Amino acid sequence: MKKPKIGIAANILIMDSGMMPGIYRAYVNNDYVESLEKAGCVPVMLPVLSDLEDVKAQVEGLDGIVLSGGWDIDPLLYGEQPLLQQGFTMSEVDRFFLAVIQAGDELCIPIFGICKGMQAINVAFGGTLCQDIGSQMKACLQHMQQAPRYNATHKISVERGSFLEGVLGKEAMVNSFHHQSVKTVASGFHITARADDGVIEGIERANGSFICGVQWHPEMMAKHDNKIMIQLFQAFADKCRQQEENK
Ligand code: MN
Repeated sequence: MKKPKIGIAANILIMDSGMMPGIYRAYVNNDYVESLEKAGCVPVMLPVLSDLEDVKAQVEGLDGIVLSGGWDIDPLLYGEQPLLQQGFTMSEVDRFFLAVIQAGDELCIPIFGICKGMQAINVAFGGTLCQDIGSQMKACLQHMQQAPRYNATHKISVERGSFLEGVLGKEAMVNSFHHQSVKTVASGFHITARADDGVIEGIERANGSFICGVQWHPEMMAKHDNKIMIQLFQAFADKCRQQEENK
């Protein structure tokens, strides 16, 4: 069967040293590329566009979309003012992510959001974020781990009957590189994974084309041959094939 072609929503890397300090580079971490390759997909990179009308043309014809991680999301986009612990934002990247999600939804392209990608999905459909779990939650675990990126450091509990449960089972161990999280979940979405402190680690859309977001970084684990996380990308690839067959 033909390999699904998956667009990875990219980011902007501001070079602060080297030959051209200050230059902007379109980039994705190669872990996403390698994980999708391992899962039998053909990844292509979707650079951040400034004309959001063009985004529909950019994603048209893709079999799936992966939203990659990145900086914090501009809180103005979900109706909040920035609190003291809010991190660096680049709202043009966020607006691009929201446009990719909207275009993907209109074209019924399956979407898998990772870290910021999951947060962007939630904001795109009207949800909000906790700007800083460390200062806004009474007690929380360490979600910005002090361990190599491919090491799992905390547990998640997975919702029965969800897409994630089909791959991960009832519980899984995941890595963690975030200080923000989903606060109020967008309508039409379910919480499908949580850490022991209650932090939301996975959301899925109830109806319509497939949309799932995860707060951890499966690509960093899959790149280091974590079998379950490779299976997660394979399961997403299956969703992309099914959607293609339904067209
Ligand atoms: Mn976490």
